[in-house]
Amino acid sequence: MNFQDTICAVATPPGVGALAIIRVSGPEAISLVDAVFKGKSLKHAEGNTIVYGHIVDGEKVVDEVLVSVFRNPRSFTGEDSLEISTHGSPFIIRYVMKLLVQKGCRPAGPGEFTQRAFLNGRLDLVQAEAVADLIAADSEAAHKTALNQLRGGFSRKLAILREDLIHFASLVELELDFGEEDVEFADRDDLKALILNLQDQIRPLIQSFESGNAIKEGFPVAIIGAPNAGKSTLLNALLNEDRAIVTDIAGTTRDIIEDTLIIDGIKFRFIDTAGIRETEDLIEAMGIERSKKALQDARLVLFLYDSTQGYEFLQDLQGLIREDQTLFWVRNKTDIDESSIREGEIRISARAQVGIEALKKQISQSVADLKTTDTTITNVRHFDHLTKAYSALDDVLTGLHSGITGDFLAQDIRLALHHLGEITGTISTDDLLKNIFGKFCIGK
Ligand code: GDP
Repeated sequence: MNFQDTICAVATPPGVGALAIIRVSGPEAISLVDAVFKGKSLKHAEGNTIVYGHIVDGEKVVDEVLVSVFRNPRSFTGEDSLEISTHGSPFIIRYVMKLLVQKGCRPAGPGEFTQRAFLNGRLDLVQAEAVADLIAADSEAAHKTALNQLRGGFSRKLAILREDLIHFASLVELELDFGEEDVEFADRDDLKALILNLQDQIRPLIQSFESGNAIKEGFPVAIIGAPNAGKSTLLNALLNEDRAIVTDIAGTTRDIIEDTLIIDGIKFRFIDTAGIRETEDLIEAMGIERSKKALQDARLVLFLYDSTQGYEFLQDLQGLIREDQTLFWVRNKTDIDESSIREGEIRISARAQVGIEALKKQISQSVADLKTTDTTITNVRHFDHLTKAYSALDDVLTGLHSGITGDFLAQDIRLALHHLGEITGTISTDDLLKNIFGKFCIGK
């Protein structure tokens, strides 16, 4: 893939900083920057070197800069690329960008550098998406997962799965070429074993999505309790030191407030406790409705009750807890009530901030087992294709079982290959053709 135009963009965030970086990539990158640069000639600079000089507008010096030079194909985009480190004044940045555009650079659209890296074969789609995730990562766990995907572990795994399947697809397609002669190159028992094996490998990938997605977006936590149990007080106590981000999401029917908290490098989202905050005047039924809604979306549930009041309110809700949810019983206001402990409950005083650290530990430990590996799925697009590939493989199995002909089998196998290939952006039909004609040389 060769792009004709040369693009430029500011790579550092807006605002004043000590330094800023302007990135330029494309066939004319070096000569275009050279046209506004005074110093050692960039045209003669080797790749992976840094050149000192000045950005000039005619005779006028605009800034003293360092230019990092990367030469095709050894750059992020695979093209000639430069990074101009200027001083971080918005005036200088605008000025340099204006000069570059005047010389013939085009301001880049969103993601264009990474898109070029993909189209030039420097990254596959999974890795390109991982770049975006890496930039967006705001917790240690999210960072680690994105970095793993950037390194290509998941891509390699997919490549291996596809290779096995392509081999069999080739054999089945070969049978089609001998249509009349009723031959079977692809042993049906072997094919069945292969499909089962592939499904065994795809299943955990699909299953990893739930935690993978939660690691990226945050594990949803609901604090449920009767009015005045101390939910708001607890939330404030939890957020006190570690408050990370507060997101206000304007819902369509009412406002939902999400408070995000990072505990031991893992992100948690406390959902819709706002609704239950002002329950003092609300009739109990309404409180329960809101609790149910919060419960539904939660991965972790804190059942909070006032030690002096008891937990009838919660008993009504307990039946709604699902198997995939973790429930904690938390007894609050233990500063004024010393009643003996019930088994398995966590004792706190939200107001006196007692037991909060221990509660946090329990929260983070409950998801710590969901370790990410380099094949954890965090992307809904990947999840979608994997699910479809899996179901196409199901169809292959059904087909094998009922003894359908090779052409129908081939269709389902092709569909599974298509979905696996879509994930990394590989075009499956090409591969298939290459494999058939490359490996088997049937001389047709
Ligand atoms: P919510 O309706 O569940 O959100 O409850 P609040 O957080 O608004 O608390 C209700 C009342 O209980 C407030 O007056 C709090 O100060 C009080 N409260 C909360 N936690 C504690 C605690 O640990 N000990 C005591 N003694 N009072 C508490």
